[in-house]
Order: sequence, then structure tokens, then C-alpha cells
Amino acid sequence: MDDSPRPLRFATRAVGAGRPPAAPDAPLNPPVVLASTYGSFGDLEYGRYANPTWTAFEAALGDLEGGACVSFASGMAAIGAVLELVPPGGLVVAPRHAYTGTVARLRELESRGVLRVAWVDVTDTAAVVAAAEGAALVWLESPTNPALELADIPAVVRGAHSAGALVAVDSTFATPMLQRPLEHGADLVVHSVTKYLAGHSDLLMGAVVARDAALVERVTAARALGGAIPSAFEAYLALRGLRTLPVRLERAQATAQHLLARLGGHASVVEARYPGFGAIVSIVLPDAEAADALVRGVRVWRAATSLGGVESTLERRRRWPGEAPTIPEGLVRLSVGLEDPEDLWDDLAQALPR
Ligand code: PLP
Repeated sequence: MDDSPRPLRFATRAVGAGRPPAAPDAPLNPPVVLASTYGSFGDLEYGRYANPTWTAFEAALGDLEGGACVSFASGMAAIGAVLELVPPGGLVVAPRHAYTGTVARLRELESRGVLRVAWVDVTDTAAVVAAAEGAALVWLESPTNPALELADIPAVVRGAHSAGALVAVDSTFATPMLQRPLEHGADLVVHSVTKYLAGHSDLLMGAVVARDAALVERVTAARALGGAIPSAFEAYLALRGLRTLPVRLERAQATAQHLLARLGGHASVVEARYPGFGAIVSIVLPDAEAADALVRGVRVWRAATSLGGVESTLERRRRWPGEAPTIPEGLVRLSVGLEDPEDLWDDLAQALPR
């Protein structure tokens, strides 16, 4: 009989990974280590290279994604570190609908001749794979923010790898609970930890997760040299948030699906977009005025950018000048939180234009 222990399931690992070893009087949680420097001749040496509180967070997220995690000061810092893997003038295939910061960063690097970009529709797998010919990196965001499009990750990985390109996936909207790109062969996963992983709208952090040791080493070196390190306190809070990811996301997802059914049937909602999982719903109202009226009329929901917190937030995305012109003016992105679903619905119903 095989009496080797069964592999632990996701929720158990979310709660248990990255804790200090069990021992009498040992704290259950990692300490917040505030140190710019450490005694010489060990593994840590200096606070821009290593911190035990980051290491605890990285152990947990790495375990959940199935790779080794390198944490950063923000999601944008993590994205920047991955883009540094592209050789000078190299080609990056990137989604035309993606987080505005990612698009802006790629455009800025392109304008300085650091890299070249081929913009694609991530739902058009054949086009993504064709664009990967001669590319150094295929950047996917799936689901995309705020269009909520999905990429066929395994098919893109097959095509990109046979063209010799790396594949990175911004999996912020999905989290490792709903999508684990490394299991589909992706080389790098990127997160804005700021969102669901930390989950309480009280910090910014980012992460890159990879399986290949050489990639992990290069991303770690980019952090040490770029200096975009998380603070120990934020790493502590992010790990505390990660412990409850399964219950938060399960509840928020159920509420999102409940609201989706009602929103889809509302007379003033032109379109309700949902990728089939997760807790973000994008609704399209007839125009910017109708969308602004909704955002200004809610009382339980909070009008705020960002997403993935315990509180429900919404915003009209085209209020940002950097948002793609192909995103409808009347699109409102809803980040569904943990309030009572009926209160969330009542609030939307009273604020939606009639
Ligand atoms: N990726 C996605 C999909 C995002 O939505 C965001 C932020 O909104 C980022 C990356 C950037 O993360 P941060 O704000 O933590 O730098």
C-alpha cells in the first residue's frame, strides 16, 4: 500500500505555506524583519537582496503557482523586471487590451528603441502565434483588464515555444486559485499582489513566479539592481491576506455570478461581460453619461480604481486617458467584494439609469 502523504490541496497550502517550522514557542507567523543589513558571511547580507518576511510570502505564492516567486514593490515593478529579459531591440507580442500601465510601459520602451511591440487580440490564438515568429517574449494578460477577454494559454505556449519565444502571463484577475499558467507551460507568471492576493486595498506589491532556475536568477538580479523591493511590513500583510484568498475569492465569485444574471437582464445594460470565472464583471451602459451616473449614484459600492479588495468598487474605465479607445465609453468595471449580495444588487438597481 502506498502510504506516502497525499499532496495537500489548495486551501490547505494557502493557509500553511511559508510558515516558520513548527517548534515549541515558535511563532506561527513569520516575523516582520526590519533590516537594511545583516551580519556578514550568511545568505542575506543586505536588505535590497533579501528579507526573511519576503521569503515567507514568496514561499507561499510560489507553492500556490507551482514555481519560485520573486516579490516586488508593485505589479508594475514585477512587469518591468520581466520586460528586462527582452534583449535590446527584441520583439514583444502584447495584448492591445491590457492594463493601461502595461501598455504605457511597453509604448515608452518602444519609443526609446529598447524593444519592439506587436499588438494582438489575445483571443485570436492564430494571430498571437503568428506574431510570435521572431519574438523574444509573448506577453499575455488573461483575463484582460477591463475587456475580460481570455487567451488560450496552452495553445499560445505551444506556438510561442516552437518559435523560440518566452511566454509571460499576467494572471492578476485569476489568481492561482483559478488559473495556474506554469502548469500549462508558461515560463513566467506575473501578479499585481495589490489586488486579490493581498485582498484588502491597503498595500501595493507585485510578484513574478517562474520554474526555470536561470529565469528566477535573472528576475532576482533585476530586483536587486533596480531596487524595486517590497517593504517587510507589506510582505507580511500580503501573506496575511493570501491566507484567506480561497474563502474571499469563492464568495466574491459566487456574488459576481449572482449579480451577472441580474445585470444581464437590466434594460439599461447593453452588455454584461464575464470571463466565466473570478469576481470582476464589466458592464457596458449606453454612453459615458449613463456610466458616470451609475458610478456617482452608488452608496454601498465605492467609486475607486483598482480591484480585488474585500470592498466592492467600480469605475468607468475610459475616464483614464490611457485606456484603449476600443474599450466602450460606457464600460464600468465592477470589482465584486464580500458584502451581502442583495445589498450590492439593491445599490446597483437604485443607481442604474432607468
Ligand atoms: N496587472 C494588472 C492586470 C492590473 O490590473 C494592475 C493594476 O491595476 C497591474 C498589473 C499593476 O499593478 P500595481 O498597481 O500593483 O503596480
